[in-house]
Amino acid sequence: MDESRLEHFRSLLIAQLRQSTEHIREDQAAALDFSDNDVKDTVDLSVMDVNKELALRLGERESKMVADIDQALLRIKEGAYGVCARCGQQIDERRLEAVPTARYDAACQTIIEAANGDDEHSSL
Ligand SMILES: [Zn+2]
Repeated sequence: MDESRLEHFRSLLIAQLRQSTEHIREDQAAALDFSDNDVKDTVDLSVMDVNKELALRLGERESKMVADIDQALLRIKEGAYGVCARCGQQIDERRLEAVPTARYDAACQTIIEAANGDDEHSSL
């Protein structure tokens, strides 16, 4: 991949990183909001706890996203960006365009997801 394409994906990743960290801040604010304001008025504390856990879990998901972006940026730096981590083939740029953090090409992603035993969408 040439320098200008790498630069393009780098700015995509940085934009996504900025968005994700904003979400994290919102999620944390939401979690804090629950404990600070609503507790006094809310009788059903078990519902409160569930909401709080949901907010924290959203934070975890966003944290994972940030870690993925971080790794993708590192791969750009090391010159390994856009290469499938499983088979070493170039990842289709349209795929990277849609998922700039992609570590695998579409074929390997399918195999990995199948191996993870996610049979929810399986038609077999
Ligand atoms: Zn592959």
